[in-house]
Amino acid sequence: MILPIVAYGDAVLKKEAEEITKDYPDLQVLIDNMFETMYAASGVGLAAPQIGKSIRLFVIDGSPFAEDDEDDDDVDPDPRAVGMDGFKKVFINPIIEEETGEEWGFQEGCLSIPKIREEVYRHEKINVTYFDENFNKHSESFDGYAARIIQHEYDHIEGILFTDHLSPLKRKLLTKRLQNISKGEVKVDYKMKFPAKKKGR
Ligand code: ZN
Repeated sequence: MILPIVAYGDAVLKKEAEEITKDYPDLQVLIDNMFETMYAASGVGLAAPQIGKSIRLFVIDGSPFAEDDEDDDDVDPDPRAVGMDGFKKVFINPIIEEETGEEWGFQEGCLSIPKIREEVYRHEKINVTYFDENFNKHSESFDGYAARIIQHEYDHIEGILFTDHLSPLKRKLLTKRLQNISKGEVKVDYKMKFPAKKKGR
């Protein structure tokens, strides 16, 4: 089932989310719905607060970042895309233990903030411990686009949006557009819930 994605301005996106246990009701259904919702919106990651649930869970499928450049051998492969084909994972109660390496900039977007993309700087490598959908514990390192997506989704369960990483000036320049998103005055081709939308519009 496709769930509406909560838009910028909703309080749930600013809240630190709660850990869950194995017994969380209908967890597998929720995970399936989150993947379905993410694919319907052509996203590569979706965190539970974005569908209105303040819990520490996010899903990722970074396949769109995988390079299909088998034909053009003259192009150097992007090292940040290595391993992205089939990079589909569920993260429950994750903890980013360490972030290392140089910070690099990338134009990030967010399903809760449609039509806005801005450069965000993040460390290139992370170590993260997390539980998968079967509540098996993992401790892994990621870099490149994989680390980038995890860092973005992890921010969501901490109540942080990519716009929070921008300079005060950049954020000021975006104020009006962000307000319009909250009011639903933005064109999107997936289902959304707008916190400041007036009735009858
Ligand atoms: Zn996001």
